[in-house]
Amino acid sequence: MPYDYDLFVIGAGSGGVRAARLAAKSGARVAIAEDDRIGGTCVIRGCVPKKLLVYGSDFAQHFRDAAGFGWTVDNPQFDWTTLRDNVQAEVSRLSSLYRKNLEAAGAAIIEDRAEVINAHTLRMKQSGETHTAERILVATGGHTSIPGDLKGHELGISSTQAFHLEKLPRSIVIAGGGYIAVEFATIFSGLGVETTIVYRGAQILRGFDSEIANHVQCELRRTGVTVMTGAVFTEIDKLPDGRKLAFLSNNIRLEVDDVMFAIGREPNTKGLGLEKAGVQLTTRGAVIVDEYSRSNVPSIWAVGDVTDRINLTPVAIREAQGFAATEFMKTPTAFDHADVASAVFGRPPVGAVGLTEADARAKIDRIKVFRSLFRPMRNILAGNEQRTLMKLIVDAANDRVVGVHIAGPEAPELIQVAAIAVKGQLTKAQWDATCAVHPTAAEELVLMGEPVAHDNEAPA
Ligand code: NDP
Repeated sequence: MPYDYDLFVIGAGSGGVRAARLAAKSGARVAIAEDDRIGGTCVIRGCVPKKLLVYGSDFAQHFRDAAGFGWTVDNPQFDWTTLRDNVQAEVSRLSSLYRKNLEAAGAAIIEDRAEVINAHTLRMKQSGETHTAERILVATGGHTSIPGDLKGHELGISSTQAFHLEKLPRSIVIAGGGYIAVEFATIFSGLGVETTIVYRGAQILRGFDSEIANHVQCELRRTGVTVMTGAVFTEIDKLPDGRKLAFLSNNIRLEVDDVMFAIGREPNTKGLGLEKAGVQLTTRGAVIVDEYSRSNVPSIWAVGDVTDRINLTPVAIREAQGFAATEFMKTPTAFDHADVASAVFGRPPVGAVGLTEADARAKIDRIKVFRSLFRPMRNILAGNEQRTLMKLIVDAANDRVVGVHIAGPEAPELIQVAAIAVKGQLTKAQWDATCAVHPTAAEELVLMGEPVAHDNEAPA
């Protein structure tokens, strides 16, 4: 056998682990290298701990809502270290499950940083060992962008550090207006931290349907988050008491306990040796791959955030499955990146799939827009002003629902189901033929009778 392994995977996150397990189960000799804990961004420092913190932060509103239902909840107290440590214990449990699953599949786990030497050879950084492989899969994910040219940037934290804070800050300012900024603003403000978002554009959540983004921005403000738009940090200083002083481009100064960067993520390719092997990268450092996740070097593939296609865990898993099916199961499989749903776990959370209204107006001749804005039943007795916004975007030529956008409780759960209908290209008539489930918020999705906007008119 000319190579040590049939497959060498670099990075044991969602994509790498899935590919390694499937390949090993098919009988291939597989090794997977990881220089951190097994599980990757999602399990160790992303989706899983983040969602648990969101659950934790939701309780403050639940306690407030309880009074309208007759409950007296006297002076509830929150303890950060309990939540933080319980979340980390769950992360450790999941990480060990990932390890067990890899072992059970027969993959060799190498706890080291692997670097590529050439198209079939890798060197382990700590041990200095080299291994050869017929195929190399790069699944190294990404890391938080830090604005290196900003004076005082080293005083800021990323979401990775936010999970491990020794104590809960009394105040925090978060740079950015995307997924991570909104989710961590939701977490911190829910836990009682005075929270400010500083976003360079006019409205956060760029790329989401504009009305949905506006709804979330208004809700964040209504619930006490300061959202400053049209501003960036110009400098961060440390005060004598350890607090931070953030200078903003709008001449505002903020004195806060912590500063957090949530200004995007970059692919982890630095120092991996991919250039030496001739692998082509984008200017952002992402591995350029074809629809089967193959790079320009025939023996090297890449899946997940390191390819900077759609940076979501389930996408990395599907890309990995496609790779394993193509290379080890004789079933060429390219993952279809169209109509991937996503969710922002804010307050309210957002679920979205397909075209936004603006995208649809740009791409489709005639559209219809259906909208429903309502106060969910639970919130009425609770005296909670939070409203739900739902939108359906329909291609008027064939009646297909091409976009669904929801901001409100359970939006991430609802969008998973709605995504089946969008992926299945169901028509608005078919949605309407589906009988409602009452009383639910979801029933609104099949009860939106009249469009609020036709053709290419501006919305009413
Ligand atoms: P996003 O790309 O979602 O948002 C980055 C934000 O930072 C944008 O508001 C952007 O502004 C702003 N920004 C970018 N560069 C600068 C800069 N130099 N100065 C000031 N502001 C800047 O990135 P996140 O970091 O929030 O998340 C990274 C990725 O991780 C997401 O895109 C998503 O793919 C994934 N993720 C998914 C989650 C989920 O599924 N729930 C949760 C968390 C992350 P502008 O809009 O103007 O470009």
